[in-house]
Amino acid sequence: MIAYVGIGANLGDARANVGDALVRLAALPATALLRHSASYVSAPIDSSGDDYINAVACIDTALDAPALLAALHGIEIAHGRARPYRNAPRTLDLDILLYGDAVIDLPALHVPHPRMLERAFVLVPLLEIAPDAEVPGHGPARQYLSAVAGQAIRRID
Ligand code: ADP
Ligand code: MG
Repeated sequence: MIAYVGIGANLGDARANVGDALVRLAALPATALLRHSASYVSAPIDSSGDDYINAVACIDTALDAPALLAALHGIEIAHGRARPYRNAPRTLDLDILLYGDAVIDLPALHVPHPRMLERAFVLVPLLEIAPDAEVPGHGPARQYLSAVAGQAIRRID
């Protein structure tokens, strides 16, 4: 299944954490890293602390969506991610944005990611690597770009 993973970090060496997350995604079982966006800097939204570094990865995985989420949590934990409170700053945040054209509503897993269409730091890197991305139930991702145009985001590589 082709899946898109959102990567974010704003604690520690955030750029290095994003780079390492890509290495670890590529090393997941039954998973290939197909491509990834550049890294972007954005100010925290609904969160606090330093600016975020964000990127989006496209993977081809045989893991089902809950297994992929568990694997992403494993990578977060390897980076010492703690969840002291909701939306706390984080060394590494890995979210499943899209999992093929699946719509998933489990207690701990919602796909497409419920907030992806409201966030420039997701949409801009996603559209960089998948300009024609379709969001199940919402149509082409690109039609949501204008609504987030007010959110500052800067490509850094
Ligand atoms: P954030 O919403 O800022 O990413 P967390 O990373 O702490 O916050 O995630 C909280 C919970 O959101 C996770 O434990 C996970 O079970 C749940 N969740 C629901 N849908 C998704 C998804 N598509 N990708 C990642 N986590 C998800
Ligand atoms: Mg998350």
